[in-house]
Amino acid sequence: MRIYADNAATTKMSRTAIDAMLPYLDGIYGNPSSLHTVGQQAAEALMTAREQVAACLHCTAREIYFTSGGSEADNQALISAAALGAKKGKKHIISTSIEHHAVLHTLQALEKQGFEVTLLPVDEEGHITAQQVADAIRDDTCLVSVMYANNEIGTIEPVAEIGKLCREKGVLFHTDAVQAAGHLPIDVQAQNIDMLSMSAHKFHGPKGVGALYARRGIVLTNVIYGGAQERGKRAGTENVAGIVSMAAAFKEACENLEKNAAHMTQMRDRLIGGLSQIPHCALNGSRKNRLPGNVNFCFEGIEGESLLLLLDAKGICASSGSACTSGSLDPSHVLLAIGRKHEVAHGSLRLSLCEENTMEEAEYMLKEIPPIVEYLRSMSPVWKALERGEQQHLL
Ligand SMILES: *Cc1c(COP(=O)(O)O)cnc(C)c1O
Repeated sequence: MRIYADNAATTKMSRTAIDAMLPYLDGIYGNPSSLHTVGQQAAEALMTAREQVAACLHCTAREIYFTSGGSEADNQALISAAALGAKKGKKHIISTSIEHHAVLHTLQALEKQGFEVTLLPVDEEGHITAQQVADAIRDDTCLVSVMYANNEIGTIEPVAEIGKLCREKGVLFHTDAVQAAGHLPIDVQAQNIDMLSMSAHKFHGPKGVGALYARRGIVLTNVIYGGAQERGKRAGTENVAGIVSMAAAFKEACENLEKNAAHMTQMRDRLIGGLSQIPHCALNGSRKNRLPGNVNFCFEGIEGESLLLLLDAKGICASSGSACTSGSLDPSHVLLAIGRKHEVAHGSLRLSLCEENTMEEAEYMLKEIPPIVEYLRSMSPVWKALERGEQQHLL
């Protein structure tokens, strides 16, 4: 048995996405900029894909810019809004402490260029409120960037409320919707979203392709210079097969959104209920405003990496917000932001589901995880100190 429960990291491509891609790797290999038939067939496919993506987001095709993924879309959105702000002497940006590094590190780069960044703190479930944004907006604020849903703890932010507020205040609003696209309803008009980032590989499309929506009238800054592709705003011969495949995957995900969410929510809540029975653990994120496929716990007295290795041996692919796996010494900035202490943040486990997971798999994970946690604790000096009462339990 192998269970893939790491869909927040990446997803398996769907049959639909693979089938949509194949003709553009094989017969229709033209460059969309070429005037001959093979090129124009590719150009047409690109146009159709753009319309499909736009329809799912409730915008126009001209407002979609294809990118190499979510990170590039985030970079370009922030850099563009900053440049527009700087022109008017506005150099203050508001975001949150739990954004993806594609946003946080771009903001750090902008700080070095003289922008001032306010990172709003989140509550213990990972929420920020529109009121916090309202209180932080100043005369020189040029951008608010708040993620739609968090990739680690699954918390969904009140983007429509924040969008409404930003529109009223005349401040640009960007949302990193990489975890939301294809999983939660999106309507950029109704939600007053000015810019939005998405990435194909988070909804069963291919890796290395994404899109940036930028509302009509927003002049983007190039991150990549060269040819006139993407209306002059993103140079480079288009990844036609990837883009067509992303559009097909996105369309499929949006059409099945409610059905998939219902199934995933059921498995998620079963897992949350079952894992909550483990002593000295805590759910990370919100019980209510939560991505349908996200389960994230901290278990006291264990290391996330060890847990992942033992789970892998049982055929379970999961993830942790802890040190080695994320390639840095510090535990997840998201877990620290919701108030988890370092010791506890190291013992985290994220299970992220997709519609292909089954209740049977959820039951299998519920059977396997508690004894592994118990085993790791039995070997942990930290746990023994807790048991002897030499240290206070944090959870
Ligand atoms: C995965 C992810 C990204 C990065 O997208 P890539 O396509 O992998 O570059 C950005 N933001 C969030 C919230 C993500 O989950």
